[in-house]
Amino acid sequence: MAGRQKTWCTISAMRNIAPTPPSSARRLRWLLALPKLGIVLLLAAILSLLWLLHRNEMEEERAALIKDVLWLEQSLRFHLNSNEEQLQQLAADLTGQTEAKKLFRLRAGHQLKNNPEISQLLWFDAQGSVIDALPTTTLPDQEIAAFGPPVAAKAFELASRLGKRYYSEPFFLEGNRAVVELMNPIFDEGQLKGMLVVVYPLDALLGNLVPWWFTEKYKVEIIDDNDIQYATKTNIDNKGSQSYEIPFDPPGFGMKLRISNYQNADNSLQRGLTLAIFALAAGVFWSLWIVRDLMKKRSQAEEALSAEHAFRTAMEDSLTVGMRARDLNGKVIYVNPAFCKITGFSREEIVGTTPPMPYWVPEQIEETFAQHQRVMAGNAPPDGFEITFMRKNGERFDALVYEAKLIDGKGQHTGWMASILDVTERNRAEEFARMQHEQLQFTSRLVTMGEMASTLAHELNQPLAAIASYNTGCLNLLDRPACDVREIRPALEKIGVQAQRAGKIIRRVHDFVRKSEPKRAPCALGEVIEDCLGFVEPDARKRRIRIECTIPGLPPIPADRLMLEQVLLNLIRNGMEAMAATPEADRVLHIATETTDSELRISVSDQGCGIAPEIRDKLFTAFFTTKPEGMGVGLSICRSIIEFHRGRLWAEDNTHSPTGSGTIFAFTLPLEAA
Ligand code: ADP
Repeated sequence: MAGRQKTWCTISAMRNIAPTPPSSARRLRWLLALPKLGIVLLLAAILSLLWLLHRNEMEEERAALIKDVLWLEQSLRFHLNSNEEQLQQLAADLTGQTEAKKLFRLRAGHQLKNNPEISQLLWFDAQGSVIDALPTTTLPDQEIAAFGPPVAAKAFELASRLGKRYYSEPFFLEGNRAVVELMNPIFDEGQLKGMLVVVYPLDALLGNLVPWWFTEKYKVEIIDDNDIQYATKTNIDNKGSQSYEIPFDPPGFGMKLRISNYQNADNSLQRGLTLAIFALAAGVFWSLWIVRDLMKKRSQAEEALSAEHAFRTAMEDSLTVGMRARDLNGKVIYVNPAFCKITGFSREEIVGTTPPMPYWVPEQIEETFAQHQRVMAGNAPPDGFEITFMRKNGERFDALVYEAKLIDGKGQHTGWMASILDVTERNRAEEFARMQHEQLQFTSRLVTMGEMASTLAHELNQPLAAIASYNTGCLNLLDRPACDVREIRPALEKIGVQAQRAGKIIRRVHDFVRKSEPKRAPCALGEVIEDCLGFVEPDARKRRIRIECTIPGLPPIPADRLMLEQVLLNLIRNGMEAMAATPEADRVLHIATETTDSELRISVSDQGCGIAPEIRDKLFTAFFTTKPEGMGVGLSICRSIIEFHRGRLWAEDNTHSPTGSGTIFAFTLPLEAA
């Protein structure tokens, strides 16, 4: 018991330990942290690379932008300078020229044609009145009154005063068109003779002087310090990623050229790529997470499995029942330690063997093989069967074997599983108990007989006395001289009858106390009752008890006659003893039988003291007695005998007794042998 408790403690301790995370879980966490760290580092490296590429690209873009801006500024300056020179030449040519107007028209027309960025060329006299103009003499609206807006007038005046070319500040015409005017004074011998004015709409300037390919790449704007936009040329109205500003001089006045590059398509590709990298990294993280979960579950399952395995092994090792598994061909595929311990063979010696097994008893090999065949055919008794096996040292032992189908995880019948119990000791103990019980029965019979000895002696005395007196009578007759031997015959016959009677009594006593094995054979219950009455009649006479007996023709029943006699005798004697205090007239013992379809019911009723309620439960307990010299084993033996015959024995109150008390002891016996 202590050992078993220890085993259970070990198992429960093992179960308690199982859920705590072992070092493998920590290792698993580390193993999973490594790829995560790797991915983070890879992501950082890719992002750094992308950032570097982007920075390089930006720098390259900026360098190209500056180069292009410088080129554009130079190109515009060159163009404006060239226009200035042509205008200066015209101004020089117009002085002292008789056909100045014609010349102006010719040259201005030529210049306008070659320089579409010029919207108008005007020729003023020194007072500011238009002498001529191309393409039309009509000035823009604001300029008609007092020669243009104050800005232009101021430029006119400054150019006149300074005596050199002068650009006006930019100003807006109607329709929000910004223009700049170039004033080129005409001097003749130091005298201001007039003014040539070129009108540059700034949008036309950009429109004509900025090549198409430039606007494919950049947005060009003319702005001032206050970020007021005067003109712009662009293909796409898009905010550039970077821009560069450079002074636009001429015309000056804080005007600047601002060039912005378009956000190129590559950018979105780059962004897409970055997004894709992030998405991929997120995907990898997600899959890692799932893998981590799976591995966690797997490791938990492994831990549970190993705990389960340890639990099973502990359970197997602690089993005292031998377990043996065989495949469908009868080959042993598994035995547990208890089986090895019972048989004395090692696992290696048994596993893999086929019939005949090393633990089969050689002299019973045929019966054992037949039993084996029954098991293999699926006909093993469900309640188990007993068989004799042999230990390795040759010792025989009784085994109680239970066979069951071995079903695998897929529900397939793959063999037979047997549990084997060594019942040698149990059988020995049972045999010992049985023998003791028999001995007790025998002793009980001897005791009964001992108690009846005096009445039996008295009973035996009667035939013996009769024999003696008949014998004396015979001798007397023989002594007579005229003796007729025929007269002796009846006396001798009576002697014979009395001798038979005495012999019958002696045989009955002998039969009753004879020690024999219980055996069931068909027996007539009427004869059994009659025999019993023969035994008890002298005692009943002594006690002045009347025995009434109603025995109809009864069918023979399979029973041990001697045992039934013992039961009846015990019940009759108990009944008679119970009536010791009953008035003489009521001392009646009644024996009755009753037959049903399946059983025979025999009852012994007395009109005695009855059974007190407090002792009713103890009646059939061995060694319970209320009598000063009683043994208390009678009823307990009666019950075991009746149960041996598959019947029932019980006691009930005799409610029909005229004395108001009394007991009925009744028992049943099956008519057919079970
Ligand atoms: P014993 O007769 O030696 O006492 P038994 O087992 O035959 O042993 O009886 C046990 C007890 O049952 C008796 O002592 C008695 O008290 C009670 N008993 C048995 N038969 C009767 C009966 N017919 N009436 C009353 N009491 C009974």
